Amino acid sequence: MFPYDRDAFYAFFNMPTPNGGSQAHCLDELGALTLALQAALVQCPAEQVQALLQREMASMLRSLSKVRRAPGQAVQLEEEAGFGATPGRWHILPGEPSSCPLCGNPACQEWPTLARVAEDGSVTDELAYHVSECEMSDDTRKGASNDSSSEKATD
Ligand SMILES: [Zn+2]
Repeated sequence: MFPYDRDAFYAFFNMPTPNGGSQAHCLDELGALTLALQAALVQCPAEQVQALLQREMASMLRSLSKVRRAPGQAVQLEEEAGFGATPGRWHILPGEPSSCPLCGNPACQEWPTLARVAEDGSVTDELAYHVSECEMSDDTRKGASNDSSSEKATD
């Protein structure tokens, strides 16, 4: 049995209702979240739901605080990222970005190739791949190559 609003449950998952109708799009985001939370709490331990919420909130809030990037920019990575990227300064090489598979923020992009920046500021031939903007921070070190025009790149 459904201890929560069954019609809203069907609508949230865009399923036809038992009487053949569809109530898709009748919920706004907070309504859908409320319903999903109710369903999760009925079926999962509260600690598991709370951990999920904390993880997803931290990931999305972090992503929403990030700026969009462009080829030619230098960025700072605080942690390992993508394939082969370790903490340090990296340079975004030309390439077509794709949707970020990590955070769920539709504005966040994953850049295909980065090159490590050496201590002297030169771009090396050490490459890393598939690093998302939500994993990047501004390069604030002395001699950072970012200019103000590259900061305005948004969706
Ligand atoms: Zn992301």
